Amino acid sequence: MEVKILSAKFDIKDANKIAIAKTLGAYATLDKLFAMKPEDVIEEVKKSGLRGRGGAGFPAGVKWGFLPKNTGKPIYLTVNSDESEPATFKDRYILVRDPHMLIEGIIICSYAIGCHDTYIYIRGEYTTQVKVLQAAIDEAYAEGYLGDSVAGHDFQLNVTVHRGAGAYVCGEETALLESIEGKKGQPRSKPPFPAVAGLYGCPTIINNVQTIASLPFILTNGADAYKVYGTEKSPGTHLFGISGHVEKPGMYELPLGLPILEVIDKVAGGVWKGRKLKGIIPGGSSTPVLLPDEVKDVTLDYESMAAHKTMFGSGGIVVLDETVDIVQLVKNLIDFYHHESCGQCTPCREGLGWMLKIIKKILRREGSMDDVLLLRELCDNIEMKTVCVLSAACTMPVRSYLDKFRHEFEAYVQGASSAQVKQE
Ligand code: SF4
Repeated sequence: MEVKILSAKFDIKDANKIAIAKTLGAYATLDKLFAMKPEDVIEEVKKSGLRGRGGAGFPAGVKWGFLPKNTGKPIYLTVNSDESEPATFKDRYILVRDPHMLIEGIIICSYAIGCHDTYIYIRGEYTTQVKVLQAAIDEAYAEGYLGDSVAGHDFQLNVTVHRGAGAYVCGEETALLESIEGKKGQPRSKPPFPAVAGLYGCPTIINNVQTIASLPFILTNGADAYKVYGTEKSPGTHLFGISGHVEKPGMYELPLGLPILEVIDKVAGGVWKGRKLKGIIPGGSSTPVLLPDEVKDVTLDYESMAAHKTMFGSGGIVVLDETVDIVQLVKNLIDFYHHESCGQCTPCREGLGWMLKIIKKILRREGSMDDVLLLRELCDNIEMKTVCVLSAACTMPVRSYLDKFRHEFEAYVQGASSAQVKQE
């Protein structure tokens, strides 16, 4: 089931170093790139159907096409490497094991959109990743793949690594831009969208690490070779991080469109210790949970997830076995998003705080059924009333747990112990 496109060099010793990476094909596509017109590169990426791998799944080539023409302003590319969503751990592999694939992708995208200054915004806690990535960028400058004349061609490109300071919300693209500009990392009201007025008020494309790292394969082999993998609407491969209660947790590159249960059984070794499956979080902590009887026909692609009222997200799959205390899980979830709220919207700042107080009250077995209903009501009242989707990233999954595991909340407010809940 596994395929090796993005992960082809992951297991090769020292593939992060340019001398080894070049023997494995790094930067080999640049002559082809500079022989093409930028608009033809964009067309090829559009044709490949590559979708943004940060969670939203928006087609990358179409996004690039939103850039206004002839504004007289510089165009920026910003690579979103602020990988912080609980259960998401895919981009870190690219950054450490094949950073030259990312740099080559940056050159391809920058040439296509007419950018000469790229910023990589990297999660502050990624200490090793920052070191390895910066060393690779230094090597690329030394060998002429970055700088005044990229690979000897008439194209200038500089790449700057900007390290975050630990705020999850800076993964939101406009908070990320504010942070690079040296301001407080708070999301901006939109419109205008970054393609029109982004970094320093200039047209800006923001793409995820995995999206950009997919470009060398597409340009080298062509869009059709990429579309061999995946489904018609969700083509290509994805790095899936599978964690939780499975026998073989880890990061696996798989074509999109595979049945989720088959992947859990055959790739991740099944639910651990022979226990029963209780639920699956399909794409990171912010995605609504799926019950065992809902996942039978769910496949790992954007369309199937949407049809089952959840989201593909970042490809971070979490398997929950029968021992999981859902009320405790929901408390952890709310605690995280409340802590990470930037505080500028009242429904998020105050609402998530109230949700946390209520869930703690329920966990202390001091809650009532009214508290459970109030929690549900808060989810509806907070969502879509804020500047960014951080609040919805909390309320959407919480609502799914409240609706699908209501009996566990009821057991808590009736004073039953979690052991009793498990037996039911
Ligand atoms: Fe900040 Fe929350 Fe508003 Fe997003 S929703 S801008 S994180 S307060």
